[in-house]
Amino acid sequence: MSIYNCPHCGKKTFNPIKKAFAGQLNSRGKVCMECGRRCVNGKGATVFNAVYSVVIFALIVIIYLNAPKTAGTAYDWIDKYEWYINFGLVISYMIIPKLVNAFFFRLEPAIRSEY
Ligand SMILES: [Zn+2]
Repeated sequence: MSIYNCPHCGKKTFNPIKKAFAGQLNSRGKVCMECGRRCVNGKGATVFNAVYSVVIFALIVIIYLNAPKTAGTAYDWIDKYEWYINFGLVISYMIIPKLVNAFFFRLEPAIRSEY
């Protein structure tokens, strides 16, 4: 079974783009074309995204606090490019979890039912 198979009916009804936007365990997920039930990215993707968010947030805080101290040292590029580094981190924060959702980890049945 590939990671693009529906966990309900087992049919391959997902593609990387649809899977990328299926969200995590706490989201509503995407509907399977075959059986109409909802699927989300499973525990693996959820844990990865949570850890990744924390790491990116920590890096932004660390850079924010330490960038001014690097002025005049070999690391003064951090001070010079602080804004670009943080911008890059924020972009990766928005894109990397989507890529991971698209290409890794299995789909699981959505826990949240439809309201
Ligand atoms: Zn299905």
